[in-house]
Amino acid sequence: MRIAILRIGAVDTGALKKIESELEEIYPETECSVLNEIMPIPADAYNHARRQFHSTHILARINSYIKQTQADCMLGVTEVDLYVPHLNFVFGEASCPGKTAVISLFRLKPEFYEHPANREVFIERCVKEAVHEIGHTLGLRHCKNPTCVMFFSNSILDTDRKRKTFCENCHAKVARILGSRSPESHI
Ligand SMILES: [Zn+2]
Ligand SMILES: [Zn+2]
Repeated sequence: MRIAILRIGAVDTGALKKIESELEEIYPETECSVLNEIMPIPADAYNHARRQFHSTHILARINSYIKQTQADCMLGVTEVDLYVPHLNFVFGEASCPGKTAVISLFRLKPEFYEHPANREVFIERCVKEAVHEIGHTLGLRHCKNPTCVMFFSNSILDTDRKRKTFCENCHAKVARILGSRSPESHI
């Protein structure tokens, strides 16, 4: 599959590079690239009372960017804090199944939890959230296995507990979905 990464506002370059290479590593036969164009942070998605951005509005906006590319799906990456109305915050959101996903790096930095800065931990969390949201675009739902990347992260502890890869069941689903998309499987 072809994944395009769209920056929404300024985004940590090291994190982007690692997300790009790990998505190619974890998803079979996948090419990933970062778009040159940057989406401005959409002011109308901002909720002044919550001081957060509505991720569903941002997802809708990403949809207009994917149309200009050959990508199968597009992952928006932002450093602003995201929410959906019934939750305090979200690490990310995706259309499931669909073509658009978004993740926020805002709550992935150890400093957010008043822990000392740790680049390795931060980047690992970014990769897990990216793999998770792309999994949703393929139609995968949350997995009950707390070490599977498709486990729902209610807090950063859940993100830290899970791996950046799929459990056996979810891996089989990914292989089946991507396999059914490739033209060779129809021969
Ligand atoms: Zn999820
Ligand atoms: Zn799983």
